[in-house]
Amino acid sequence: MQYDEIMVRYGELSTKGHNRKNFIDRLGSNVRDALHKFPEVKVHANPDRLHVSLNGANSDEVMRHLKLVFGIQNFSPSLKVDKNYDAVCKAAKEMIEEQVKHPITFKIETRRSDHHFEMDTFQMNRELGGYLLQQFPDLLTVDVHHPDLTLRVEIRLNGIFLTSEKVPGAGGLPVGTAGKGMMMLSGGIDSPVAAYLAMKRGVSVEMVHFFSPPYTSEQALAKAKELTGKLAHYCGSINFIQVPFTEIQETIKEKVPEGYLMTVQRRLMLRLAVALAEKRHGLAIFNGESLGQVASQTMQSMRAIEDVTNMPVLRPVLSYDKNEIIKIAKQIGTYDLSILPYEDCCTVFTPPSPKTMPRVDRARKYEQLIDVDGLMQKSLANIKITRIHAGEEFLNQNQDVFADLL
Ligand code: ATP
Ligand code: MG
Repeated sequence: MQYDEIMVRYGELSTKGHNRKNFIDRLGSNVRDALHKFPEVKVHANPDRLHVSLNGANSDEVMRHLKLVFGIQNFSPSLKVDKNYDAVCKAAKEMIEEQVKHPITFKIETRRSDHHFEMDTFQMNRELGGYLLQQFPDLLTVDVHHPDLTLRVEIRLNGIFLTSEKVPGAGGLPVGTAGKGMMMLSGGIDSPVAAYLAMKRGVSVEMVHFFSPPYTSEQALAKAKELTGKLAHYCGSINFIQVPFTEIQETIKEKVPEGYLMTVQRRLMLRLAVALAEKRHGLAIFNGESLGQVASQTMQSMRAIEDVTNMPVLRPVLSYDKNEIIKIAKQIGTYDLSILPYEDCCTVFTPPSPKTMPRVDRARKYEQLIDVDGLMQKSLANIKITRIHAGEEFLNQNQDVFADLL
């Protein structure tokens, strides 16, 4: 069915008191962003809910995009009909024909902001209800307390709107309302899921990706970028910051005892991410660590790494089991990309047995064996920032390499 308008109900933000206006404005602009491919669509973010006027745009397509926008509790596609009772009956009949395939209970719920309309809400409920019962005697029964379907009729100044379905939205908070965070994005399974969860709580993320050519390939970089394109479906577009890490890794490998290679590498990664956050007004660092998953993800290890900063390091998947993370990765469409076998920069330099219980004092001492400031400056001078849009692809440019792998 081709609808005329989509009525969007706000999620958690209705409880946010004085921040409400900020939330609503942000959601309005995020929805406009998500629907930028439909120039005919108009978005009106009102204090009680948001209206998307389709002006002929395909309603199924628009809803597919709307489902991904955080901050929406649910939405209902509506039909706009002329302001006369016969038109309401005709449209209501079509909606029931399309949506009801087996017997259900229903009720009509009318709201009227145009008080000059010929029927009041009580009359509309009764008359329209009676009409539909007559049309569908085998399908419909009235239940005003717990109906399976509520057919809403809104009599507004500019027309009458009919709504029945309620489609669940993505929940969460509008991206951007929580401020900016730097997301350490590898090509693995966990960090894309962590990025998704951070965005869901309103964080606007910028990806920080460390790469180490020639130890890591162009494809590993392309994979991280393509993952960013997948995640950008939830917010429109995301800045991807690639940070060269080769020289730092080579130096660490040369100078630092093997047991502390991992810890010192991670400390440098975190230092770089913090430096970028400070420059770019980020408020926190996000990563995809899950407690106990691998050697670098013990609490002792986190302590020895986080020692380099007092900026919050937030770990959205900390308490998730691997299979829970995989489930979300599949839902959000990052899993298939994440399992492509391109080495990322950590695997290349991972010692056979990294310390699971590194000590802070030793980590500090071994880090002093390298020129931290000099190496960081060089790396930061050579970062590259790309703005990546929803669905942008980077891997298919290397189809031949793909074929070699298979
Ligand atoms: P993931 O699946 O996210 O790669 P993982 O379980 O493989 O995680 P590690 O490789 O130990 O774990 O990495 C832990 C976290 O460190 C990652 O989730 C990510 O946030 C960050 N990280 C690792 N490698 C990189 C990289 N090359 N660039 C940016 N961040 C990275
Ligand atoms: Mg990894």
